[in-house]
Amino acid sequence: HAAASSNFLRQIIERDLAAGRHQGRPWGGSPGDADHHARGLPDPARIRTRFPPEPNGYPHIGHAKSIWINFSLAQEYGGVCHMRFDDTNPEKEEQEYVEAILDAVRWLGWSWHAHGTEHLYYASDYFDTMARAARYLIETGHAYVDEQTPEQLRATRGTLTEPGTESPWRHRPVEESLRRWEEMLAGRHPDGAMVVRARIDMASPNLNLRDPAIYRIKHAAHHNTGTRWCVYPMYTFAHPIEDALENITHSICTLEFEDQRPFYDWLLARLVPLLRAPQFARARTRIEGLRAQGVEAAKEFALRCHNAAARVGANTEAERSMAALFARWEHDRDAVLRDLDAFFELLLAELHQFTPLLAEALTAYEPEPFDLPHQYEFARLNLTYVVTSKRKLKALVDEGVVAGWDDPRLPTLAGLRRRGYTPSAIRLFCERTGVSKANGWIDYGTLEVALRDDLEEQAPRAMAVLDPLELRLTNWAEVFGDERHREPCRAPVHPHHPGWGERAFHLGPRVWIERDDFMEQPPKGYHRLYPGNRVRLKYGYVVECTGCEKDADGRVTAVLARLVPDTKSGTPGADAVKVKGVITWVGADEAVAAEIRLYDRLFTDPQPDAGGKDFKALLNPDSLRVVRGWVEPGLGDAAPEQRFQFERHGYFVADRLDHQPGRPVFNRIATLKDGWGG
Ligand code: ATP
Ligand code: MG
Ligand code: MG
Repeated sequence: HAAASSNFLRQIIERDLAAGRHQGRPWGGSPGDADHHARGLPDPARIRTRFPPEPNGYPHIGHAKSIWINFSLAQEYGGVCHMRFDDTNPEKEEQEYVEAILDAVRWLGWSWHAHGTEHLYYASDYFDTMARAARYLIETGHAYVDEQTPEQLRATRGTLTEPGTESPWRHRPVEESLRRWEEMLAGRHPDGAMVVRARIDMASPNLNLRDPAIYRIKHAAHHNTGTRWCVYPMYTFAHPIEDALENITHSICTLEFEDQRPFYDWLLARLVPLLRAPQFARARTRIEGLRAQGVEAAKEFALRCHNAAARVGANTEAERSMAALFARWEHDRDAVLRDLDAFFELLLAELHQFTPLLAEALTAYEPEPFDLPHQYEFARLNLTYVVTSKRKLKALVDEGVVAGWDDPRLPTLAGLRRRGYTPSAIRLFCERTGVSKANGWIDYGTLEVALRDDLEEQAPRAMAVLDPLELRLTNWAEVFGDERHREPCRAPVHPHHPGWGERAFHLGPRVWIERDDFMEQPPKGYHRLYPGNRVRLKYGYVVECTGCEKDADGRVTAVLARLVPDTKSGTPGADAVKVKGVITWVGADEAVAAEIRLYDRLFTDPQPDAGGKDFKALLNPDSLRVVRGWVEPGLGDAAPEQRFQFERHGYFVADRLDHQPGRPVFNRIATLKDGWGG
């Protein structure tokens, strides 16, 4: 039922598909679909999404959300999700992180292969196109090279209430900007000497539209392109271009980017002639056709341009002159009609200047004249008791607070995997927490509930003693005639799946029980072992406690009890003796010693990095407790990553790296009940 639940992204995609958008669009493939892309064949995918991490750290549970959203939407609607590395920032990116991200996506069960193609892309593979795009914007008057210092750039940006100040370089001749751009490319200037800026509007209420930088100088080697470049695109410039080149239909990101959407659209509209050359050529043919059809068709098209101009706004000189032409429409219609020819001349001569207007006006004739990707935003996942920022996670790793990126206390996917989380539990968690437009916090317990719901039906059961205390059955020889006798016991592998068979183990005169299953002086309501009380050893016999042994410090070293004959579980009359307590145990001479790692939350604060808090001062000193325990004999040869429910204790996994035959190591994934309430 959960998988069918709707969210606003599904609604958007369904709306788009119902309107016939995206389907079979020509030139719709991706660089990977070599034939489709180059020959203008229809897109084999109905929609395209992408997961675009920056390889600057290990992916975490927040990324799992983004992975789930993008891959599951593509899968549900017959589309493809591209795996794309947004590697535009040379200094922080490493191959190790690339591998970790690919591993995590595969582990979660997703694939970026479709229609015979591997859709694995690197933003850095598009650096040539991006540099051409910057040049194109300069040539068309939409960008300039600014030689202000970084301090001046910051100081002239303005504030939310004050407009920015125009740079003295803003109106320099195109040729001069182009010359500087060439020099930047040739490495003739140091870092920070100048930047390429989009020319938009220094008075825009949206700070992201106040002539944002699109290219900067950075003399740094890149993990993919080496030292080929000494200029690198800004993320906000690179990302829309990546999306457009790959023919992404729905570009889904987190809410912080909502204010970037106007720039995303502004940029792609300006780059249409470059990035959508075939469609653009078609548009030109269409316009010429309309003109040739006579004055009525031309008039109607001019009217559509008029409406588009009102909606889109006019930013360049060319657009402004067009807008001025349209402004006369209302009061001097005839004059405009007389000017229709002039209108078409202007339009066709400087077509590339009018793409936003054209896109709007042409939709009446072609559903998607330039089929540009659209950005949609959702609220990022915030999970209590963890930090999900690669930078902060890296600090914990680098400073040795945790054992590595895959430390089971970290919310990295490598950490969650090592902790024992299943891919299906994580997917279930993503589905249940849904997609929202409003930021909020998800309780860590929600992740554990998903884990329990996933493992409850799947995990074989076993008994383990984590804090061992010896229990001696003092009448053993009396009952069975021989101290060396061992009584075979059986238990279901899983109580709901009889077909899975039974576990076999033995009861003997010495068993390990949990230390807190005995109390010399029990409080009221305590039903386990205390002198004079009877309990059942699960799957075994009822025993009656007779006392205990202690060391010189008064610490209990063994519990003494007598076995009650004829009470063996599963035999007739076993229930004749009534008990209120059932305890778990393992036979002392066949149990396997195990290292058991008991993990708890890493931070003591539910929002360790919110509101400028110092998360490193909020560490839980008891986030890891390693104990030596005893497990059922069958667990000695568990496979790494095999998961169990230890009865009464919770879910455990054989550690994927340290667990070895004869040297078992188990990690506690989660207790049986929620312990995170605080
Ligand atoms: P971090 O702050 O941890 O470095 P990021 O957003 O910079 O995260 P990217 O590598 O750029 O990390 O992220 C790849 C994708 O994952 C982006 O689309 C981003 O929006 C998404 N993403 C990252 N963190 C979360 C989160 N907590 N919830 C949902 N999506 C996320
Ligand atoms: Mg990022
Ligand atoms: Mg980041």
